[in-house]
Amino acid sequence: MKNIIDQIYDTGQVTRDELLELLNKLDEGSTAYLHERAHEKRLSVNGNKVFMRGLIEFTNYCKSNCMYCGIRRENKHADRYRLDTETILECCREGHELGYRTFVLQGGEDPFYTDDDIVSLIKAIKSNHPDCAITLSIGEKSKESYQLYKDAGADRYLLRHETNTKALYERLHPDMSYEARIQCLYDLKEIGFQVGAGFMVGLPGQENEDYVNDLLFLMKLQPHMVGIGPFIPQQDTPLAHASSGTLEKTCIMLSLVRLLLPKVLLPATTALGSLDKKGRERGLQAGGNVVMPNLSPTNIRDKYLLYDGKICTGDEAAHCRGCIERRIQSVGFEVDMSRGDHVDSLTQK
Ligand code: SAH
Repeated sequence: MKNIIDQIYDTGQVTRDELLELLNKLDEGSTAYLHERAHEKRLSVNGNKVFMRGLIEFTNYCKSNCMYCGIRRENKHADRYRLDTETILECCREGHELGYRTFVLQGGEDPFYTDDDIVSLIKAIKSNHPDCAITLSIGEKSKESYQLYKDAGADRYLLRHETNTKALYERLHPDMSYEARIQCLYDLKEIGFQVGAGFMVGLPGQENEDYVNDLLFLMKLQPHMVGIGPFIPQQDTPLAHASSGTLEKTCIMLSLVRLLLPKVLLPATTALGSLDKKGRERGLQAGGNVVMPNLSPTNIRDKYLLYDGKICTGDEAAHCRGCIERRIQSVGFEVDMSRGDHVDSLTQK
């Protein structure tokens, strides 16, 4: 397997058959080698830096009904909340004082916020903090809406493709369209956002063939960011009794993405940290170079529960900032508080 890993390291290229063979045959030794090479690759691109993003979870209302997600429309046990503009701006002020220069606004697909609301919010944050990047993660919208957000000053957009196997996508997303989601990603790229795609690992029925689809899709899309986390069941969803994805498989995917898209911004996700006490550290060692500590107000933190066992739901933003810094340093990496744009988007400016 080492020759396929070396080939990906050297060329960034791999065929469907090679990827599948690799995933089917990886053993302990070749997995360790994969992580080593991914680590080498990340050092050659961004050194040992880990970029920080402050995450603000501003609404858990959602019109979608994703089978895995704790804030799905049909979950009557979810305690719904929305943050008003002043509260969101206050989170940004606190985040800015703590040194954050990227704010990620994430939420369910909440029709309460009109395009005008989102535009005003982006403008208000940019006017308070012109030195900061804004990342949106608010789901599928029309190309026109995305353009309005971009024109208002938003810099980046996260929209995981979730899985690039159409049949699996459709089983997991009642009344959503696989084609529409993929189209959104291309629209976002065309408009000029730094774009984040990504997928979950360990979904019920997900096989190595499906991960190959995800990896080949990422090679084609060439996103700036890729969010990969384990699926973790949430008790009030139809998948409550399914098993979680594993730390090992998630780290394998992180390493492969680091080799296939060397410059990509790749978070060690909160889901990974929730699955395992050292999950985020392991994610960084496997090629991750971003973490997204929570800036949401503590009184609503325990309501944005996409999955069970989410970490840091009771912690103040300042506490999270210190805790994550220690974790990053404990595995030999260095915190970078700059905006942390993708290197290609810097040369374009
Ligand atoms: N509404 C936005 C944000 C979704 S929440 C959107 O559609 O993009 C952010 C991510 O959390 C999702 O993209 C999904 O990959 C992940 N997620 C949701 N439920 C999860 C679960 N049970 N386990 C792990 N990750 C989950």
